[in-house]
Amino acid sequence: MFCQKCGNLMMPRDGKMKCSCGYIQQEGKISDKKKKSEEIAVVEEKGVEILPKMKYDCKKCENTEAYFWTLQTRSADEPETRFFKCTKCSTVHREY
Ligand SMILES: [Zn+2]
Ligand SMILES: [Zn+2]
Repeated sequence: MFCQKCGNLMMPRDGKMKCSCGYIQQEGKISDKKKKSEEIAVVEEKGVEILPKMKYDCKKCENTEAYFWTLQTRSADEPETRFFKCTKCSTVHREY
């Protein structure tokens, strides 16, 4: 890739293409990286680590994939509660 400003060969640095003249080319790759870190941030908000995904029909949107985790709510003899978090609209659904 060549600099749009001076025509020199650009060097990749910090996920961007940089030229010795100081020109920085914003790459499409950056938005991909940003998207990924946003996804992780959403999960961290809930206080859970990166969750496994499984097939789940979201009741709010057309999405068919959700993160899931389980919680033992009350006593041990009661069935655990399953939570599904839609990977698209982030709605959390609960199943007993
Ligand atoms: Zn340049
Ligand atoms: Zn959804």
